[in-house]
Amino acid sequence: MKRAWIECSKKDLKHNLDLIQSRMAGGCEVMAAIKADGYGCGILETAAALDELNIHAFCVACLKEAIQLREKGFKQEILIMGYTPLEQIKEVCRYDLIQTVVDLAYAKQLDLLKLKVKVHIKIDTGMHRLGERAENIENIKKIYQCSNLQILGIYSHICANDLSRKRDAEYAENQLRLFDEVILQLVSDGIDVKKAHIQSSYSIFQFPQCHYDYARIGAAMYGVLATRKDAEAIAPELKPILSLKSQVVDIHVLKKGESAGYDLQFLAEKDSVLATLSIGYVDGVPRALSCGKGKVLIQGTVCPIVGRICMDQLLVDVSEIAENVRLTDEAILIGKQGKSEISIYDVAEACDSIPVEIMGRLGSRVDRIYL
Ligand SMILES: *Cc1c(COP(=O)(O)O)cnc(C)c1O
Repeated sequence: MKRAWIECSKKDLKHNLDLIQSRMAGGCEVMAAIKADGYGCGILETAAALDELNIHAFCVACLKEAIQLREKGFKQEILIMGYTPLEQIKEVCRYDLIQTVVDLAYAKQLDLLKLKVKVHIKIDTGMHRLGERAENIENIKKIYQCSNLQILGIYSHICANDLSRKRDAEYAENQLRLFDEVILQLVSDGIDVKKAHIQSSYSIFQFPQCHYDYARIGAAMYGVLATRKDAEAIAPELKPILSLKSQVVDIHVLKKGESAGYDLQFLAEKDSVLATLSIGYVDGVPRALSCGKGKVLIQGTVCPIVGRICMDQLLVDVSEIAENVRLTDEAILIGKQGKSEISIYDVAEACDSIPVEIMGRLGSRVDRIYL
């Protein structure tokens, strides 16, 4: 008996990857983004599923995530996309990882360490988060003069993904153009830039014709984009792979006028039956779904979450299925049951968020399994 668990579909993961790969130019490979505990699906579980699907490259946010993968024996190329403090670069080398060079100053500091650290150079084409500015071509060339760096690639990140705005599409196209210009300039100087990559989930579907070596894919691989509308518009075939499940651990019959939960936030307007589920906000059910804003599926029926969601448990009004509900009944917080579904978009919309935030915040004590 489990209290709360996440089930991910290997079949849907493969389906999404096949779809993504069908949109990529020949020779371009998926570099799978498995940061943030594999977008909630479990970093090690996801890495194992991707390994079976012959994915050769991973990208993560930080050193800790990369080490976790190496310690479990994953041999893939691993790119750390975030900043790593200089005193931890030894670890980057020891675990045979690839560090992102965030600008020329950082490149010089890395060079002084004389560790022959493997790196990809980040180019800022307009996000202004990490990277040496595309316009500063002289600075970029200086990074290539750092003889103690093993420079294996160059990349950038597209930040304008709002499909409802023409301005964003133009901005993204300009980012692609700036990146191409940097590469052309370097190549014309006789520099071998090796692996070049800029696309991620949105740009694979918006600009499929691009001819880079990798596409760093997170969201789309897990079957989601930022909004349901975007998914319907550019990638309706994607299938969200994650389901969140728990179960009924207690049942309470309330008389009209009785209240339940913290701060008496539920008041029975009629005789009611409540089920207690062993999952709470620490497990990643947003507390904003309290008091009827969220729903769960039990026995294929949509039941409202009532009262305030607690840290480890929550209450559901099961009056509609009072005759049938039983202890240990499975409850679906995200996913399908029979013909009914509560999609990750339903949850994200109900609390003014996006699917990957909901997924990334799922709690560490929830079991993860790929089926
Ligand atoms: C997280 C991340 C990605 C993956 O983005 P998705 O939109 O989830 O596909 C790619 N590149 C960088 C730099 C990232 O931080």
